[in-house]
Amino acid sequence: MALEEITVLPPQDGEVLVRLVATGVCHSCLHRFDGSLTDARMPVILGDEGAGIVEEVGPGVTGLEPGDHVVISWAPGCGVCKECFKGRPARCRASSEPGCLVGNTTRFRKGDETIYHSGPSTFSPLIVVPSRAAIRISASVPLETATLVGCAVTTGAGAVLRTARVECGESVAVIGCGGVGLNSVIAANLAGAHPIVAIDPVQIKLDAAQRLGATATVLASGQDIAEAVRSATGGGADVVIVAVGNSLAIEQGVESLAPGGKCVVVGAPRSGEKISIDPHGLRGDERIVMGSSYGSCNPPLDFPMFIELYESGRLPLDQLVSRTYRLSEINEAFENLAEGKDLRGLVVFDKADL
Ligand SMILES: [Zn+2]
Ligand SMILES: [Zn+2]
Repeated sequence: MALEEITVLPPQDGEVLVRLVATGVCHSCLHRFDGSLTDARMPVILGDEGAGIVEEVGPGVTGLEPGDHVVISWAPGCGVCKECFKGRPARCRASSEPGCLVGNTTRFRKGDETIYHSGPSTFSPLIVVPSRAAIRISASVPLETATLVGCAVTTGAGAVLRTARVECGESVAVIGCGGVGLNSVIAANLAGAHPIVAIDPVQIKLDAAQRLGATATVLASGQDIAEAVRSATGGGADVVIVAVGNSLAIEQGVESLAPGGKCVVVGAPRSGEKISIDPHGLRGDERIVMGSSYGSCNPPLDFPMFIELYESGRLPLDQLVSRTYRLSEINEAFENLAEGKDLRGLVVFDKADL
């Protein structure tokens, strides 16, 4: 990624201009510039996790005004289709041209050149998004911490609470304990799951998982994960959250299930990859394999809920950010993400970035 000076055009109908305080360093962005996810249109500003302050509202915007503190949703949806009405905007397919906002145009320019959006493009400290993407939260919460709600919390905790609907006493295994997986561990703990098994190849992530509620950990290093999960849960997990973009991990997740168990696919493997599942285990044990996009959450309802849980001390988000970076260090932040060195890295914007 290169740091460039660009122009941000004013918000149009139904849009808002937001000055971001911070942005998260997320695996889906890493996959976009390492080529394993191919949904971004170049040249592009990436970034799917952010929080900040509304600077300007476009014509027709109601319910938001300059000065409001907001967390950015990467799935605003169109607001009027069946999935949006059901409160599942991440499933909305009524999008405009790839990389564009409504009207099939973009709000970023470099000279005369059009720069495309990728979701909310939160690696720009100033963004224009549909007003539905800016979810107002209490001004009493630090915006740096609230940033995590925009992707990692919603994706990871939502997979447990909303997609799998984990019940008290069910066993949960979380494969991959980065920013998303650790939120799954926190949510499993909140839901009263037991045991909670965390699996990762990096010891510091397992240590964090243990602090956040995991009751058993498995240092993944080439051994059969399914066998380790079955042994830690006494026969298989009721719910497995696969929070890593890896086909083998999904296959092992399915093999880790107790009869009737659910394997929730959260991480995105490389575009084009396939998985192989034994249909006899699927049928005979009535296993369920399900996908989870944005934790099956409805941001206008769920963002304020997560923020309240944080304020009440039940969602320990402060323990998730292992390091903050300046915007000029963003490539280093992604190198550290790729090498598994951070729990969640956060880029904090400063005045020099504007
Ligand atoms: Zn993300
Ligand atoms: Zn829609």
